[in-house]
Amino acid sequence: MKIAVAKGDGIGPEIMEAVLKIFTANNVPLEYEFVDMGKWVFDKGFSNGMTPEAKQTIESLGALFKGPMETPKGKGVKSVNVTARKTWNTYANKRVFQTLHGVDTVFSKAGINIDITVVRENIEDTYGGIEHMLTHDVALSRRFITRPGSMQLIRYAFEMAKKKNARRITCGHKANIMKITDGLFLECFHEVAKDYPELKADDIIVDDLCMKLVTRPDTFDVVVLTNLQGDIVSDLCAGLVGGLGFAPSANIGDHICIFEAVHGTAPDIAGKNIANPTALLLSGISMLQHVGLIENAAIIENALLYTLESGVHTGDFGDKKIPSVNTTQFAEAIINNFGKQPKTNAKVVIPNKPGTPAPFKLAQNSMMISRESTDEKIVGVDMFIESEEQPLQIAKKCERHAGVKFKLVSISNRGTQVWPTGSVYTNLVNQYNARFESLDGDPLNQQDVIGLYVSLSGNFKICSFELLNMWGDKKAYSLAQGQ
Ligand code: NAD
Repeated sequence: MKIAVAKGDGIGPEIMEAVLKIFTANNVPLEYEFVDMGKWVFDKGFSNGMTPEAKQTIESLGALFKGPMETPKGKGVKSVNVTARKTWNTYANKRVFQTLHGVDTVFSKAGINIDITVVRENIEDTYGGIEHMLTHDVALSRRFITRPGSMQLIRYAFEMAKKKNARRITCGHKANIMKITDGLFLECFHEVAKDYPELKADDIIVDDLCMKLVTRPDTFDVVVLTNLQGDIVSDLCAGLVGGLGFAPSANIGDHICIFEAVHGTAPDIAGKNIANPTALLLSGISMLQHVGLIENAAIIENALLYTLESGVHTGDFGDKKIPSVNTTQFAEAIINNFGKQPKTNAKVVIPNKPGTPAPFKLAQNSMMISRESTDEKIVGVDMFIESEEQPLQIAKKCERHAGVKFKLVSISNRGTQVWPTGSVYTNLVNQYNARFESLDGDPLNQQDVIGLYVSLSGNFKICSFELLNMWGDKKAYSLAQGQ
């Protein structure tokens, strides 16, 4: 079985060498094809940070094991890490956080055992990366949450929770504020939950989740979140078990999976052979499990846990009274502990059941669609306009353009209604949302909206517009604060 390996930048090559040495010493039956990705590939002029050969190799092998990579700053290029995750639709980011004995934290000292798996959506949300300056003062970020994308992620999370005999699966969200986007994610969570009656499924508002994670982390098991909230919550969980040096990560897709540590390239310690390879090793162990090399995975994990329990540590953690070892010595200590059983959390050694990571060959992009049976109609439009005038003056102008099809129903600024009701104490910026609805409640068409756009543009610069849709009797848009 062959996998693609990218050593990465900074400490990447040192920690990758340590991990592959451990794999080789354990006779892991894998072959490695090294691919060119990272900063030096950007520097050679490849704007996505990987060579076409690297892309082809990864697509044909289906599994990539990667070290951390640096994104050049100020050159307008996108992170190769994010590009890789998105291009290959690795829709689930799975991160396991467990108490490691030998890694002191307030919880391990208090005897509170942590075993939390965060499943973070990996493609959508604000990471769609679509941002615009609407005016000189106003930036807008678009947040995509899709039904098929959420369903794909949440199904994976439930399947994974079932396999691990999870006590509980929890959806973290902010659906009380982001009613449409997080509301959709939460709706998908409860829809999928119906197919897994044996699992205790619940949801929690993300701020409450953060508070409870730091006060009672032992009450959580699997936690599912959208991309940005998941990014923040997963680093919070890393902090609970000792920091990013102990946080593995698997990016799971239907065809291609990427296994990597979540810490960066640590330029401050690169080249010194002192970096901690634990996070990359744990990510590698999760890769071995993924391709069915469960015996190797268990032996190596037990050796790692035993090594940590015995107090061996690199300089970034552990008992300061015990001298630290370097990266190579840490790897050697693990190799010397193959076959030993840790006192806590020992893994059962079961024979390998190797699968193949090689993906199906796809001829074209998959289209993910879920069909709504309810009628869809356009009932209005939000026009995002630039203006420094007061709300009343804007309303007068807008009403002149409303014509026979539209009525102006609301004007808001930074999401707060300022017309027809509002307060002079609401501070304004130079960008308003003028909401028009159908005058008589009849459905509108796109030509009507374009007509309004053309007319309004005589008075205002229109930065953007959004259609207001109804699906059956359900509004597919939110109201402004105060509307
Ligand atoms: P960082 O994680 O590289 O470093 C933060 C601190 O943690 C540093 O003090 C570093 O020495 C320490 N540290 C990190 N990993 C360690 C390890 N394995 N052992 C011991 N100490 C370790 O974060 P940063 O400084 O913000 O980022 C540096 C670069 O890494 C940036 O170019 C960034 O784009 C990149 N980055 C890459 C990834 C990735 O490839 N997945 C993730 C995050 C950051």
